[in-house]
Amino acid sequence: MSGAPPGLTRAPASEALLARATAVTPGGVNSPVRAFRAVGGTPRFMVSGHGPYLVDADGREYVDLVCSWGPLLLGHAHPEVVDAVRTAVARGTSFGTPTEGEVLLAEEIVARVGPVEQVRLVCSGTEATMSAVRLARGFTGRSKIVKFAGCYHGHVDSLLAAAGSGVATLGLPDTPGVTGASAADTIVVPYNDLAAVEAAFTTFDGQVAAVITEAAAGNMGVVPPEPGFTEGLAGLCERHGALFISDEVMTGFRVSPAGWFGLEGVRPDLMTFGKVMGGGFPAAAFGGRADVMAHLAPVGPVYQAGTLSGNPVATAAGLATLRLATDDVYAHVDKAAAEVGALASDALNAAGVAHRLQYAGSMFSVFFSDAASGGASVTDYDGARGQDLFRYAAFFHAMLDRGVYLPPSAFESWFLSAAHDDEALARVSDALPAAAAAAAAARPAEGDR
Ligand SMILES: *Cc1c(COP(=O)(O)O)cnc(C)c1O
Repeated sequence: MSGAPPGLTRAPASEALLARATAVTPGGVNSPVRAFRAVGGTPRFMVSGHGPYLVDADGREYVDLVCSWGPLLLGHAHPEVVDAVRTAVARGTSFGTPTEGEVLLAEEIVARVGPVEQVRLVCSGTEATMSAVRLARGFTGRSKIVKFAGCYHGHVDSLLAAAGSGVATLGLPDTPGVTGASAADTIVVPYNDLAAVEAAFTTFDGQVAAVITEAAAGNMGVVPPEPGFTEGLAGLCERHGALFISDEVMTGFRVSPAGWFGLEGVRPDLMTFGKVMGGGFPAAAFGGRADVMAHLAPVGPVYQAGTLSGNPVATAAGLATLRLATDDVYAHVDKAAAEVGALASDALNAAGVAHRLQYAGSMFSVFFSDAASGGASVTDYDGARGQDLFRYAAFFHAMLDRGVYLPPSAFESWFLSAAHDDEALARVSDALPAAAAAAAAARPAEGDR
């Protein structure tokens, strides 16, 4: 993409930190989208967060509409979560033994999410999907996995074919380092296309171990499943003896107390979780049918393990977060998300910018495109990629300059929290008209698109 648009607010402390960071870390970041490559400019190095706000190294405060890419359902540094972490850390940081905290967190997950009879804790969403796929292959004795273009399931080798998120942002068709052998067992079909899934089952009769899908896609921008899609996937899997894996790493415990399952009610065989359930710490999980989970070591033959799995500090943060995530919290987040989306849409309409706003529960994103603004929803990756990315970059920087931190890529969801109050929303509202005007005035840079 193009470099930083002219006239941006300078961020000298972040620039200095970025210079040091790039000397010792590729791109200066530990996860690619943080580098602002899709929008240009200098990534902000943050030093603290409180409630709905982030503070950067230059002392500037931002309304945070990323919430650590989803986990912070309660906002930054929620006092009760911080207390739970303090108490846990004072008792010791890791034991390498079972602890009661793991039991409590597992019980909380099982109590909330009907299809999860048993669960195993891991440290990242990537680990959760990788383990779920291995378990599905071990359980079925089959090798092929069906995934959807634009769905991101972490950086698992076999699932990095046509993935969304950072891979979509960087426009990589695939990634070097993933062998043909691991990609060969992955069948990629368009999202929301049941006929394509059915065709895959026909072509690879008796070979498909699992279909894995984002419960609602949030890594190609927000693209919810169309009515009947999830149910259709569950039905096809059942008919063909494959497992249905619903990846709820992003939607889980965020869009409802029971995640996307709580909204749609279709039972998967296996589910994956992360983000919110870690309360800002590295905790994630996969779980589902007890008879399938019984294939995991030490009960069954499918190996899976982790030195820091079920870490006592992470589980304390996750448990405190889930216990505080009451119906009131979800109602507030839903309302705040609806308000911010409406404010953004109003401002863009006033500036004459063609766009479409799409929701999946309280997750949402804005697609800048004439086609989508004509009323047609974006239903798959091709549709998502058809947007005017240069408009998003201009919009993003105008918001950043005015103290609102949006995801630094058009392919990511916006996230609200229970801490986003009227004042935070007012700041977003104040920033929007100028950002909408910037989006209207934006032109593709030479060589872009
Ligand atoms: C974030 C995400 C992952 C990967 O989780 P990490 O903790 O980043 O490894 C997997 N699946 C989905 C749907 C995600 O949004």
